[in-house]
Amino acid sequence: MSLIVHKYGGTSMGSTERIASVARRVAKWVRAGHQLVVVPSAMSGETNRLLGLAKELMPNASMASTPEALRELDAVAATGEQVSVGLLALALQAEGVPAVSYGGWQVPIETDSAFTKARIRRIDDARIRADLAAGRVVIVTGFQGIDPQGNVTTLGRGGSDTSAVAIAAALKADECLIYTDVDGVYTTDPRIVPEARRLHTISFEEMLEMASLGSKVLQIRSVEFAGKYRVPTRVLSSFTPWDIPIKEEAVSGTLITFEEDEKMEQAVVAGIAFNRDEAKVSIIGVPDRPGIAFQILGPVADANIDVDVIIQNVSHDGRTDFSFTVHRNDYARTLDLLKGTVLPAVGAAEVLGDAKICKVSIVGIGMKSHAGVAAKMFRTLSEEGINIQMITTSEIKTSVVIDEKYMELAVRALHKAFDLEQPAAA
Ligand code: ADP
Ligand code: ASP
Ligand code: MG
Repeated sequence: MSLIVHKYGGTSMGSTERIASVARRVAKWVRAGHQLVVVPSAMSGETNRLLGLAKELMPNASMASTPEALRELDAVAATGEQVSVGLLALALQAEGVPAVSYGGWQVPIETDSAFTKARIRRIDDARIRADLAAGRVVIVTGFQGIDPQGNVTTLGRGGSDTSAVAIAAALKADECLIYTDVDGVYTTDPRIVPEARRLHTISFEEMLEMASLGSKVLQIRSVEFAGKYRVPTRVLSSFTPWDIPIKEEAVSGTLITFEEDEKMEQAVVAGIAFNRDEAKVSIIGVPDRPGIAFQILGPVADANIDVDVIIQNVSHDGRTDFSFTVHRNDYARTLDLLKGTVLPAVGAAEVLGDAKICKVSIVGIGMKSHAGVAAKMFRTLSEEGINIQMITTSEIKTSVVIDEKYMELAVRALHKAFDLEQPAAA
């Protein structure tokens, strides 16, 4: 008997028919003798609908960033998962399988108080274990938790992945299976590049980069948990017939691996990620003197705005340009802040902004030992006439910021240039 955590995403839970199919799949695993904890997301579109309602009642973006409003946004958004767990428990009971549902606060899943992006601190496994021992399937809300003051929190968009892997870690589960609407992790988003290829395995390091650089197939924090607690984690499809043999299902999809292993032959670039959620701001004509980066970015950090790519140009006549990217949700606030206080304080000439950018990244641990990979990326983009606005690199990734309108072209061209359609050498 194994202890298995299943996670089902929004599309997988998208209708009562889909929920009934999830229940039949879970029942199959139970009948095969396994203990099951199931973590569903809200039904597809539901979190967006709920946040849309909230937005209608908030007159401006600055209200949405007050701690009081963020608390209520979480109170609203968390209800989507609450509905899902109850429905799934009913569907399992209808299958003749004993099942009980819990909200994050009932387990409890303890988080910090960073509303809309809370971090899990601790999970009390006593209640789940008692139910499992009594022969019940335990269904726990994804995405939500409770802070030390008893407030409901959410873990950020896509956070049900993190709930599932964290619960699997807390329970020392044998495996965490992330069921979604694609049958694994691909070399890039198969919705953008139809030739993208499914990876049978992906190293933890590569998955971490892919997730952090925009591949929404897994929330980054779920990958961090998987790595920290060595949770065997697999991404697979919930759209296979529910009654396929478990033996087949258990080896399908993409497994995250933790050993930097024998696969010396592996492709230099494992995958391509992209992110449309960022915006660029530039401060023009900044006096080039020590402390200037701090003078600009200090107030931005104080306003709780995360900064991603940063560049400072070579100075001319003692003045330089300084650019960085922020999440698009923070774009308006960042521009206001720079124009309002930072520009006069540093004595810069003007502030410019561009929300129509995207970041495209190539990722692969093979890049550590191969020179010229970034150069090939730049050549490929130049052959397509795509201008690179910013560049950032690490040992296992190179990212560029480009005009958003070239995103799909860039991803397709890079996918081809790095031979990602071809199966990797064995
Ligand atoms: P869920 O609701 O199940 O959590 P998500 O929409 O959050 O599903 O994540 C699955 C989606 O991630 C896929 O439908 C796909 O479009 C997208 N995706 C982005 N990059 C990749 C990738 N490299 N491999 C697979 N899917 C990807
Ligand atoms: N329902 C939440 C969202 O849409 C969490 C999730 O799906 O993982 O972001
Ligand atoms: Mg998701």
